[in-house]
Parts: sequence; C-alpha cells; structure tokens
Amino acid sequence: MFTSLSDRLTETFKGLRGKGKLSESDVNKALRDIRLALLDADVALPVVRAFIGQVRERALGAEVSQALNPAQQVVKIVNEELVGILGGETRTVRYAKTPPTVIMLAGLQGSGKTTFAGKLGYWLKEQGHTPLLVAADLQRPSAVTQLEVTGQRAGVPVFAPERGNVGGHDAVLGTGEGTRSFGDPVAVSRAGIAEARAKQYDVVIVDTAGRLAVDEDLMQQAADIRAAIQPDEVLFVIDAMIGQAAVETALAFQQGVDFTGVVLSKLDGDARGGAALSVATVTGRPIMFSSVGEQTKDLEVFHPDRMAGRILD
Ligand code: GDP
Repeated sequence: MFTSLSDRLTETFKGLRGKGKLSESDVNKALRDIRLALLDADVALPVVRAFIGQVRERALGAEVSQALNPAQQVVKIVNEELVGILGGETRTVRYAKTPPTVIMLAGLQGSGKTTFAGKLGYWLKEQGHTPLLVAADLQRPSAVTQLEVTGQRAGVPVFAPERGNVGGHDAVLGTGEGTRSFGDPVAVSRAGIAEARAKQYDVVIVDTAGRLAVDEDLMQQAADIRAAIQPDEVLFVIDAMIGQAAVETALAFQQGVDFTGVVLSKLDGDARGGAALSVATVTGRPIMFSSVGEQTKDLEVFHPDRMAGRILD
C-alpha cells in the first residue's frame, strides 16, 4: 500500500510542535521521506538527489509559520519546488504568425506518438483550428496506415505518401542498414506542408519515425526533417511508464532534435508522474500535454500544480 508524502511527514513530525524553526535533524528526517516518495513515484535517481539538495536548502532554518505544522510546512516547500521545476505555468502550442503552424512529433516507437497525433488533431479542431496530419514515419508501411486510421477516428485529414512513389523515388529506398524505408520523409513532410498551404489547413502535425531504442540513424532522420521544415514546435512524446530510462531518452532526443515541448503519454496507467519531474529537470522544456488513454478524446493540457499533487499524494 502506498503512503503519501503528506502522511509520511505527518508521522515523522509527530510530537514536534511549537518549535520556532525546523532543526537539521527534523529536516533530515523529512528529506528521507521525500526521497522515498520520489523514488516511489519513479523519479530518476540523479533527479531525486538534485531535488533533495534544493529542498534541504530551503527547509533548513525555515520558520515554521503559525498557520502550518512542520509537516505541512515541508509539503508546501516540496510542492512549490515541484511546480517550479515542472514549468510553473501551463503552456500549450505557440502558433505561427503566418499559418500553417508546423508541429513535428518525435519519440521512441510505442511511446504513443501516432495516437497523440490524432488526439492533438482533435484537440486543435475543438479549438477552432483546421489541422492536417502528415505521415512522415516511413519506416513501416503499417505506420502510415495506422496514422490514416487514427486521423479518420479523430475526423482529421491525413496527408500520406503514395506507396512506392514518394519524393520522386520509386519503390523501396534503402540508405543503409537500419534506415530502410519506402520513401523520403523530408520530401513527404515538405509536400504535406505545401498541401496545407494550398488547401488552407492552419496547423500541420508531422508524425516521424521512432525506434524501440534511441538510434543514431533515426535521430539523424528526425534532425534532417527538423532542419528542412523548420517547425514552430517539436513535441517529444514520452511514455510515462518509462521510469529511470526517462533521463537518458529525453537527453538523447534533446540533443538529437532539440524539442520545444514534452508530451507525457499513458498517464492513465500506474505511472505516478515521476517521468514528468525527470524530463522537466534534465531538459528544462515545458510539458504541454498528458495523454490519458487510447481514445481520441483522452488528452489533457498539462498543469504543473496538478502533477505536483499527483507526485506528492
Ligand atoms: P507510436 O509507435 O509512438 O506511434 O505509438 P502508438 O501511438 O502506436 O502507441 C503505442 C501503443 O500505446 C498503442 O497500443 C496505443 O493504443 C497505446 N497508447 C498510446 N497512448 C496511450 C495512452 O495515453 N494511454 C494508454 N493506456 N495507451 C496508449
């Protein structure tokens, strides 16, 4: 059974009342509780260490206010630090001054990218936009089909290459081990954006290829697409259940494609949100959306304060 941080701290500070300041030994006990709570929430170890250091500084010598008991005081500090790292304010898509706004998606295969493309398209439509999905994941023909199905479900049109005739190439293209594809994703992305301009779609969502593990060829492909289409946003989709691997994966994608925002997927599962803290800490990029299910409507705008609560409770 999971014990919330608030409960743990209340237990730790039992019998401690009326002191003017939190003593070093009180703070150390509290930090141990915080450490356990963060590890339970699957926050990556180096991130836990850095966080504990920050909280220690603020908690030592903090006046225990009249209104709060020591446990509440520490929870307040932890909460404020969490919200700060998670970006403070909610931030979503920044639209281009001249449409179309181009949003590129990147992430590991299976992270929930294609599902998110449909959800984002639906969400944008609800906001009054006219989105177009572009299938630039050409590693597997099934990925294109999957995006087409996802788009249909979301009621959002999909621009996909004609099989075997993309960007002037015929049949299967192979540019080396690991990058076999049936078309040129840069050409398809460009063509998709041109289509949006011609038909006045105001947001283009470019779905790119992923791999099960971080892979140099695929990262290069994503970097090439990014350089060619100059997207307004690059959203990195990461599975919230990824746990300790969040740091390494996020850093690899930051270095490879330099994303502008993060999407946490599969937050409807058992994940307690540790990945959010890990990714936000090591990349400094805002988390914009949470994906909370397999249906088109299962998308939420990310709220740092709510996630802080989820990590704490
Ligand atoms: P991609 O390879 O990154 O494009 O990943 P997909 O979009 O194909 O998703 C991989 C699997 O995760 C599929 O079975 C999806 O139905 C599932 N999935 C995607 N997003 C979510 C989510 O937010 N919650 C849950 N429970 N499943 C999801």
